[in-house]
Amino acid sequence: MEGSTEPITERSWLRCYRCWSQELEVQVHYEGIHRIDATTGERAEVVDEIQEAVVQCLDCMHDQPHLGFQNGRVEPIEDRWERMIAGTPWVASCTVAVEADSVESCSGPEAADSLAFAAFGDFGTREFFTHVRFHKHDEDQIVVHLLVELYARSPEEASGVLEDAARGVLAITSLAEESRPPASTGADRH
Ligand SMILES: [Zn+2]
Repeated sequence: MEGSTEPITERSWLRCYRCWSQELEVQVHYEGIHRIDATTGERAEVVDEIQEAVVQCLDCMHDQPHLGFQNGRVEPIEDRWERMIAGTPWVASCTVAVEADSVESCSGPEAADSLAFAAFGDFGTREFFTHVRFHKHDEDQIVVHLLVELYARSPEEASGVLEDAARGVLAITSLAEESRPPASTGADRH
């Protein structure tokens, strides 16, 4: 496990936060509305544009929520990359009590995502590995019971991140450190 003791250096962030691989790719979705130049027919100034990018590891196929894509290059997301690169996985068993109105759907194929999003917002669907175990209706509230895996450098940081991300009343019943997934050598893809 030499990877986990490496010092943080310049560009330490430019790799997969789980397996350390530097084999990354970015999927960019661009949608734009442009004026048309009346003489040349060329695409001219932008009326409206949306760009969405997801960086993914080619070795373990995980999304990289500590990396963003701007102006043609991948950049670290402040307040997140150091924790995820230098951290280890923590698994929390917890509940979040949210307003029932904030859950888009609590049954059917969308339920797990809706409940994870209601509990932890984008963190629940983009960063954490969230497993919704079950949920209970309590008058106009829904109590979501979850197992969450997230990366942090200490138990205090892990619970702090969970508290900041929670969109309702959070109760952590257990929090345990897991071992890091093995570092990828790039040679043992399967
Ligand atoms: Zn990876």
